[in-house]
Amino acid sequence: MGLFNTPDRCSPGPPTERQTPRDAGGDKPLAYHRAVTAFLDDLRSRLPDLRVLTDETDRESYRRDETAHFEPGLPLAVALPATTAEVAEIMRAATAHRVPVVPRGAGSGLSGGSAGIEGALTVALMRMNAILEIDRDNLVAVVQPGVINADLKAAVAKEGLFYAPDPASYEFCSIGGNIGTNAGGLCCVKYGVTRDAVLGLEVVLADGRVIRTGGRNLKDVAGYSLTHLIVGSQGTLGIVTEATLRLRPAPPPKRTLLAFFPTVPSAGEAVAAMTAAGAEPCTLELMDRVTIAAVDDWHALGLDRTAAALLLVESDRPGTAAHEELDRAAAACDAAGAVSVVRASDPMEADWLRQVRRQAFRAMERLGVARMEDVGVPRSRLPELLAAIERIAAAHDVRCGTFGHAGDGNLHPTFVWDRGDTAAEERAHAACEELYRAAIALGGTVTGEHGIGAARRPFLEEQVGTDAVEVMRAIKAALDPAGLLNPGRVV
Ligand SMILES: Cc1cc2nc3c(=O)[nH]c(=O)nc-3n(C[C@H](O)[C@H](O)[C@H](O)COP(=O)(O)OP(=O)(O)OC[C@H]3O[C@@H](n4cnc5c(N)ncnc54)[C@H](O)[C@@H]3O)c2cc1C
Repeated sequence: MGLFNTPDRCSPGPPTERQTPRDAGGDKPLAYHRAVTAFLDDLRSRLPDLRVLTDETDRESYRRDETAHFEPGLPLAVALPATTAEVAEIMRAATAHRVPVVPRGAGSGLSGGSAGIEGALTVALMRMNAILEIDRDNLVAVVQPGVINADLKAAVAKEGLFYAPDPASYEFCSIGGNIGTNAGGLCCVKYGVTRDAVLGLEVVLADGRVIRTGGRNLKDVAGYSLTHLIVGSQGTLGIVTEATLRLRPAPPPKRTLLAFFPTVPSAGEAVAAMTAAGAEPCTLELMDRVTIAAVDDWHALGLDRTAAALLLVESDRPGTAAHEELDRAAAACDAAGAVSVVRASDPMEADWLRQVRRQAFRAMERLGVARMEDVGVPRSRLPELLAAIERIAAAHDVRCGTFGHAGDGNLHPTFVWDRGDTAAEERAHAACEELYRAAIALGGTVTGEHGIGAARRPFLEEQVGTDAVEVMRAIKAALDPAGLLNPGRVV
């Protein structure tokens, strides 16, 4: 037993709001400080060139991710490795001293996954930000985890290629974080989520071993798919230090349509009808009245604020096929009762409208403390989910704006309250719990793309069942027996 016990590592039940390490020796700040000093001294002697932040102000800036309502801990230090070898040595030192480790990308996560844990070392991967190779012959890119999603998109676009995963945060989130969360985004409806774009990984395990999974083969069934296991594991099974990613030829410019609806469920009905008809637009996004008003207030767009909801539909099919696809989408919107359907006049206007949708969360944040949720349902049940969201927000008397990836059946009801209004905050948290249960009852999920992290852990078992959680815990125990990697998150 080392000097640190890992906090709450595999126990069921709610996560502690402030995750605190227990010192195996009992009470003692002094013993704790000695243990921290011994660990950091050892780290420095193993890796004299490693950048390590220990100043409190620096550590503070790694305390939070973007999960505003989650109260995280302060890292004991922040390591900024530059190579896989450094990450491996950090894990060997952490194992020797039983120090928990929080892997971190750009810190834009919305489930508390990279937020600090009191007494844990945060390992921030953003210095490992090289695009190592763009292999045109095999349509793959090999990158380090700290590459920003938008930078990869721009680099491959210069070669006439396309990296599909595009979270709304693509301008500031990292590929490592996208892999950690199995990030979705606006074009998943056609091109899939991050997992669908990951062919292989280099991963540092908890004990410092380095493994490679997958590779450049499009088909590869040699053994269990460790690649798919690591993607979405939120830093609890290993630290990704390199990724081999699938590229595609660049699609043609997008054509864009906006449809406005008199009720929110009628927009959901249009989405369900498009899905049932086999439509495959590359974007099918929804914003409700509250969100429309929030972005319109911010950017003065002149959107129809009387509408209860809008759908943003995009097609990137070649030539006239794009117009035909939008014609079919428009017909589905009309049939569902759309009050108006308009098309972007040129690609610049289309880009701008997409950018506006990407700003939805930031627009909601301007209204107060915003808790963005992430429920998903089978697409035919989207109208029921939308109706449930409206009912729950009204029942709990909380302000809620809903937007999201309607084409995936994945919505982000975002509850907002004034900072310091604890009664409203409590009502919002209660509304979230009811929302999770509503999604589960509809055959859906409590998180479509942001992850269980720390914030949604009590609901994992409710969704997947005890046996499935036990299997997850067994996998975690096999890969990380001391429970050092992101303890208290996911399982
Ligand atoms: C305005 C806004 C819009 C957003 N839109 C979307 C969206 O459309 N779709 C979507 O899916 N998400 C969205 N997000 C959430 C967030 O951007 C994604 O979850 C993103 O993938 C996180 O990337 P990051 O680099 O910030 O990772 P972090 O937040 O730093 O980490 C996320 C998780 O991955 C783990 N991790 C990070 N790096 C590694 C690594 N190298 N190895 C192993 N584990 C690692 C962390 O431990 C953590 O559990 C949005 C967030 C914001 C603020």
